[in-house]
Amino acid sequence: MSSSRDDAFATRCVHGAGAPDPVTGAVVPPISLSSTFAQDAVGRQRGFEYSRSGNPTRAALERHLASLEGAAHGFAFASGLSAEDAVLRLLDPGGTVLLSDDAYGGTFRLARQVHGPAGLVVRTTRLADIDAVARDWPDGTTMLWAETPTNPWLRIADIAALAELAHDRGALLAVDNTFATPALQQPLALGADLVVHSTTKYLGGHSDVVGGFVATSDDDVAARVGFLQNAAGAVPGPFDCYLVHRGCRTLHLRMERHSANAEAVATMLVDHPAVAEVLWPGLPDHPGHDVAARQMSGFGGMVSLRLAGGADAALRLCESTEVFTLAESLGAVESLIEHPGRMTHASVAGSENEVPDDLVRLSVGIEAVDDLVADLAQALERC
Ligand code: PLP
Repeated sequence: MSSSRDDAFATRCVHGAGAPDPVTGAVVPPISLSSTFAQDAVGRQRGFEYSRSGNPTRAALERHLASLEGAAHGFAFASGLSAEDAVLRLLDPGGTVLLSDDAYGGTFRLARQVHGPAGLVVRTTRLADIDAVARDWPDGTTMLWAETPTNPWLRIADIAALAELAHDRGALLAVDNTFATPALQQPLALGADLVVHSTTKYLGGHSDVVGGFVATSDDDVAARVGFLQNAAGAVPGPFDCYLVHRGCRTLHLRMERHSANAEAVATMLVDHPAVAEVLWPGLPDHPGHDVAARQMSGFGGMVSLRLAGGADAALRLCESTEVFTLAESLGAVESLIEHPGRMTHASVAGSENEVPDDLVRLSVGIEAVDDLVADLAQALERC
């Protein structure tokens, strides 16, 4: 990213919801709690009629996030999974979605256990290997679903190459941009048709809200997502919209710091004898490093590692840190550590997506980097 694009993005982070409130001059979009809105005459409204269909605070967030993703349209949802649910509902019964084989476990559960019985065909592939995706492309695939970097393997998929392939085969490309955020990666500019977010993570950024988002510049897709948002009604409340909006105003600064802290942590871990492997796309020997360097403007704050001492060492590490908190979720100001095999990814145990017991995932926060490195060093001593 050039510095002028950086600057433009930073300005959109701060001002992306638009001008101050026209009535009061409030510089922060007011939290509009009203569920219904007075009409001037029957059917003549002033922009809003009922808060499931549209709400001023939600509209401000939708404008803001769409602007950060460079999208013409944006739709806020009650959670990342309800946003994903709306996107999967775009497919007709009998349609096929091709998922990354290490997509978020909840995405598998939703696709296979909720949409599967309703007729959706779910196939998986290793998206980091574009030749294999082209070779093994299932007939009838109408949506390719990518996550990059992936959770918890931090694998990288080439978004521009996937978009070209998907469009050649008549499919839409949806990208879950939760890990990178628009501060580091802009999937629509790389050719994707839809972007999905769990705003619970970096966009909210403070571990105090659950939310989701869908962005697209395709008018037909937008009309259908908008219809589903209103018809199924999985919308976020005004206070939740305000919290996500507030998080987005510092997104650019936080992502810079998350990435810098993650780099220091990954560099320390690489040299540590208790660590067998470090997974972070910023490392030059990471298999996806070149693609990540091309399509991302920073490598992000998520780092996974495998312990030389196996499962016991991984569990001990998770229970020995003092600054890193043992907890699920990711993407907030505070550093978190977790054991995916027994925590976030326990639902895929026993399947081909099972995460090995020696793997630990870190969500590197924005604390003083020396404290983070020292905390991991003291915890690794006990492994
Ligand atoms: N996508 C990714 C990459 C995630 O990590 C998560 C949750 O961890 C989700 C989607 C689901 O989001 P939510 O928990 O907000 O429903």
